[in-house]
Amino acid sequence: MTVETYQASCHCGAIRYEVDLDLSAGTSRCNCSMCNKLRKWGAIVKPDAFRLLGGGPEDTGTYQFGTFSGTYHFCKHCAVHAYGTGELEVLGGKYYSINIACLDVDHAVLAAAPVQYMDGLNNDWFNVPKITSHM
Ligand SMILES: [Zn+2]
Repeated sequence: MTVETYQASCHCGAIRYEVDLDLSAGTSRCNCSMCNKLRKWGAIVKPDAFRLLGGGPEDTGTYQFGTFSGTYHFCKHCAVHAYGTGELEVLGGKYYSINIACLDVDHAVLAAAPVQYMDGLNNDWFNVPKITSHM
């Protein structure tokens, strides 16, 4: 396990944050209705591993759906979904959802990160969906 501090940003740079993350511990792709639209590539961290450096309410829009347990934070200028926040017992309480694609790192670092596929579409988050090639 190697926890490193990564810088992350939306496309235009209005939203910036840093996150303490162990990429070797795995990342996730989910097929729920929202992740499917975004082709989201994520990782979950505890709130103390996340530090927002830029992107106040003037720059950041939010979106919720379904159970309203999570909030998507996206840039009002460039439309990139930079991170999410929420609270779910199954995830250990309060969490931040990192958009792995927003990490400002060499693509080789991203390519080395293991991916776990989650069947959010069927509320079966900890199992792999039947089809993953499109995720
Ligand atoms: Zn932006």
